[in-house]
Amino acid sequence: MNISNGVKTLPFTKEQVETLTQQYPTPFYIYDEAGIRSQARGLIDAFSWNTGFKEYFAIKALPNPEIVRILKEEGCGADCSSMAELVVADRAGVAGTEIMFSSNDTPAEEFIEAKKRGAIINLDALGHLDFLEKTAGLPELICFRYTPISLKSGNTIIGNPKDAKFGLTREQLFEGYAQAKAKGVKRFGLHTMPVSNELRVAHHLEAVRELFTTAAEIQKEVGITFEFINLGGGIGIPYRPEENEFDVKAYSEGVRTLAGEAFGTSVPALRMECGRYITGQHGYLVSTVRHVKTSYKHYIGLDASMANLMRPGMYGAYHHITVLGKEDAAADEVYDVVGSLCENNDKFAIDRELPTILSGDIVVIHDAGAHGHAMGFNYNGKLRSAEFLMQKDTSFQIIRRAETLDDLFATLNL
Ligand SMILES: *Cc1c(COP(=O)(O)O)cnc(C)c1O
Repeated sequence: MNISNGVKTLPFTKEQVETLTQQYPTPFYIYDEAGIRSQARGLIDAFSWNTGFKEYFAIKALPNPEIVRILKEEGCGADCSSMAELVVADRAGVAGTEIMFSSNDTPAEEFIEAKKRGAIINLDALGHLDFLEKTAGLPELICFRYTPISLKSGNTIIGNPKDAKFGLTREQLFEGYAQAKAKGVKRFGLHTMPVSNELRVAHHLEAVRELFTTAAEIQKEVGITFEFINLGGGIGIPYRPEENEFDVKAYSEGVRTLAGEAFGTSVPALRMECGRYITGQHGYLVSTVRHVKTSYKHYIGLDASMANLMRPGMYGAYHHITVLGKEDAAADEVYDVVGSLCENNDKFAIDRELPTILSGDIVVIHDAGAHGHAMGFNYNGKLRSAEFLMQKDTSFQIIRRAETLDDLFATLNL
């Protein structure tokens, strides 16, 4: 989307960012509303062949009600996995079966709340059926999360499927739906989420094939009909400039073929719950260079840290960096770009080729719109940053203020 000829571009100019930095301290996040809307539309359009297709935006990727509200306008529901995410959905006006509640290791009060809101409840374990019945009572519609294991390799974020803590085995699914049916459940869905940040269409389709085959067998053997199958999220985005955009049309066509093979003309409604794919490329972390330091290596010290964006430190994830005003300058220096946490993995980039950077330069860290601000934390007393929405006319709306020291100390009882 924001890549042309292997170069990552920005939807805003240095001058536009400076209108913000004059009023608000960095670091902060900017989300591009037009980009987010068009990403959601592209996914929904690609699946227009499937009656009942719906994208449930995974709130955990960007838990700001304003974003969830915008996505509701585009026809999306919300995928929630905790009490707080149910509250975000509520604040965004997303309710009832527009919510898919997919949690794991779930406490009773969350099942009770999800049921009260009429959300679709997705169970992560066979034993949760009894637990749900005892705590919240069984809803009319039940869904189980399946962990397919045919994938030859997992990937670095989710790992090997057999090591995944999520979901039920294939055998357990037959048992789960039979039990639910015996308990009087009337409507059924099936869910999976086997990969994360996966750009290879064939890899996704491998999981979908196993999912559909299993679904068709369950329908036959247990004597139920799935009203929906949720393919999960996990679609990757091109974090590196040399990577290509996920081919969502080819994916959709592949899914269509597999659905025809497994279900003939009675294809269930399909659901997805992408987070990263919808907002990832349309969020930017803006930060100012505090210090340029040379010891054994050259370091660029930012006012943002891993507490603002954990992915590079946690997974070694690549995030592209642009120095505002130096987009066309030669990248003839090699730097480690770091934050100020007292942890040596607090690095946004290691040995990155960049133009010469000076204290006071503004850098933009790309593709921070999913699992970015959301994964923020307060270690070393770092404060979580503000979030801005860049609207179509490129004006900026503040959609979350920055934390203050008072926020940080508000929970002390001294
Ligand atoms: C994290 C998660 C998602 C979203 O994943 P993305 O990689 O952001 O698309 C969807 N569903 C479940 C159950 C998840 O845990």
